[in-house]
Order: sequence, then C-alpha cells, then structure tokens
Amino acid sequence: MISKLPNVTTSIFSVMSKMAADHQALNLSQGFPNFESDPLLIELVNKAMKDGFNQYAPMPGDIDLRAAICEKVKLLHSCVYNIDKEITITAGATQAIFTVLAALVKKDDEVLIFTPAYDCYEPIIELFGGKTRAVQLEAPFYKPNWEKVEDQINNNTKLIIINTPHNPSGVVFSKDDLLQLQKLTEKYDLFVLSDEVYEHIIFDQQIHYSVSKFKALSKRSFVVASFGKTFHNTGWKIGYCLAPEPLMSEFKKVHQYNVFSVNNPIQKALAIYLATPENYLNLSGFYQKKRDLFLELIKDSKFKYIPSEGTYFQMLNFSDIAELSDIDFTEKLTIEHKLATIPVSVFNKNRLDDKQIRVCFAKTNEVLISAAKIINAI
Ligand code: PMP
Ligand code: GLN
Repeated sequence: MISKLPNVTTSIFSVMSKMAADHQALNLSQGFPNFESDPLLIELVNKAMKDGFNQYAPMPGDIDLRAAICEKVKLLHSCVYNIDKEITITAGATQAIFTVLAALVKKDDEVLIFTPAYDCYEPIIELFGGKTRAVQLEAPFYKPNWEKVEDQINNNTKLIIINTPHNPSGVVFSKDDLLQLQKLTEKYDLFVLSDEVYEHIIFDQQIHYSVSKFKALSKRSFVVASFGKTFHNTGWKIGYCLAPEPLMSEFKKVHQYNVFSVNNPIQKALAIYLATPENYLNLSGFYQKKRDLFLELIKDSKFKYIPSEGTYFQMLNFSDIAELSDIDFTEKLTIEHKLATIPVSVFNKNRLDDKQIRVCFAKTNEVLISAAKIINAI
C-alpha cells in the first residue's frame, strides 16, 4: 500500500514511555500526572452511569456542559459563545485539532506553526494535502518573532496554529504577542487554531491570553481545550472546541462523521464539577508548587534552565554535560540513569537540536525527589 504519511513513525511519547517501562526508569517523558483526579469527580461520573446516562450524548455535546464551559469562558475572557452554535465537546484536544484541520485545510493550503511544535499538527495538515511552514522559536527563550512570521506568509497561507502556554518550552505568549497575531491575521485574512490545553497551568501571576480575549481575533479563531490536563485524567480523552458560528458549522460537518458524539457520563459529571471555579482556578498554584520544588531540588545540577512559565513541562539544557545528540542523550539517561525524558529536537523542523530535553513535573513529590537525585548525580 502507498502510505499517505510516509514520514510518520511512532510518536515520541509512546517510544519513550515504552523505553521507560522496558528499563524500569522513572517516566518523566510523556505528559500525564501520576496521581488521581478529585474523588468527587470520579464519584460524579459513577453517579451519571448509575443514573442511566449511558447512551449517545447530543452531537455537539451535553447541553449543561456546553453551558458550563461558555460560562467559564465568559467569566475568564469576557467572550460570549453561543451554547447551541459555537461549541462542540470533543474526544480530547487531539480530535478537536484533527477536526479543525480536516474542515479547513485543502490541497496546497499552507499552515504556519511555531516549532518546537506539538507532534500531531504537521501529519494532519499533510493528510489533507496541506503544507506546513515552521517559524522557529529560538532557544533559550522560545519567544515568537512576528517579523519572521510575516515573512512566511504568502497567498496560500490559510491558518496559523498557536499554542500557549507552550508545549514543550513552557513559554507563555504575552498580550502583545496576541495583538501582533491579531494584526497579521486581519491584514492577511487568516484563520487561527489556538491550542490552549494548558490554559489553567500558568505561573508567577501571569495571565493566560486566550484568543477569546481579543474581539477581532476570536472572530477568526478555533480555540481547543482539554479537560485531561485540567482535572488530572488524560485517559478520559475529553475536551472541546469553541469558534464563531460560520467556523463551528464547518467543524460540526466533520465532527458528526468522525466521532458523532463523545462519552456521555463524563460530560454529565464535568458539567456539575465545572460549576465550582476553584476546581480549575487552583490548578496554577498546585503546579507552581511542583515546579518550584523540582527547580529548587535541581538548582545545583549541571543542567541549565529557564523556569517554565506554564504547562507541566520544564526544559533542561544538557550542553555542559554531554556532546551527544538530544536523542542519544535521552536514550542514555533512560537506560543508564533510569530517567525517561523527551528529546526536544523531535518537535523541530529538520530535527534542530538545541541540546534540550523536556521533563514532565506532573508527578507526586516523592517521584520529583527521586528524579532530582538522579539529575543531581549526572
Ligand atoms: N495539544 C498539546 C499542546 C498537548 O500537549 C496535548 C496533549 N498533551 C494535546 C494537544 C492533546 O490533548 P488530548 O490528550 O486532550 O487529546
Ligand atoms: N501531550 C502529551 C505530551 O506532550 C502526550 C500525549 C500523547 O501521548 N499523545 O507529553
């Protein structure tokens, strides 16, 4: 068979998690918490199942959950989305991203992404005949350069994908970044896919600037979010997409034949759980403690780093330790030191290697302490 994606191999997250298991290494590679969701949320899901919410949910999602999300977005970003026409509940952010790209990208369309980029964007663009143009976020600060973005725009450019807080760098886009984005998208009439899965994990009193906060920008944007990151249950695969009606109606045309609708009892439970804003507003403080603990523990190690501004990832630079490629370095770290991490070059065009590895600190303090011992001994 002729492959539609000849260059795609197994995702780095599966590769590194398997390597961690094979070598009994601490797994700080794939991004997922090693602790449980709030028991109350689990109880609410159980209750919804026992109460009989076990058949198909409505195609765009449970009405109470859509209402709760629209309320949250109004509260946080002063942006009002129509509950019936401008929101769809999805099977995680990945399905939302897939659906946006399937609805938008045609043969020869170009999509701008910032690299290092989350791994699912490019293959999906390619699947629909599109072409990816990468704008490199330069080490060590990984801040966007909007002049370089403008240089990459041409008549075929249809969409820009942003991701803030950013995986893997932990960088947060500023208000000015969003204003620059708004200006460019208006000037060149572009759509935006805003991957905001880490919207509630942001440190040092910074503000998450959603595209929803900017009127003109929100009119041409799809916002993608994931409950897995926010409520410590990445395995539930549930998220949502917001967009103005003309965009969302195209999204739904794909969604209904892709999954039709998603897990009903979990939607019922989340609708109730979201009504308490502390359930998501306290998350930044929770993860900031973990970031601070981890960085304090490794402050005398040979790794160099700039503290993560958001997400549950921290990048570490190993250029003072080894002259290996980041891929070889992470392999050595896993096999010899029993610590699995992610080599950042796999998220870059042409595998640009800044000698950075990504560590996930969504772990119990015991695991962070054990990981720090390994890191300090290197
Ligand atoms: N975007 C980014 C930046 C992510 O890090 C992830 C997963 N960690 C996703 C999308 C996918 O989220 P989900 O697991 O809800 O599909
Ligand atoms: N998004 C998670 C990460 O960045 C992994 C998700 C996956 O395994 N596909 O590690």
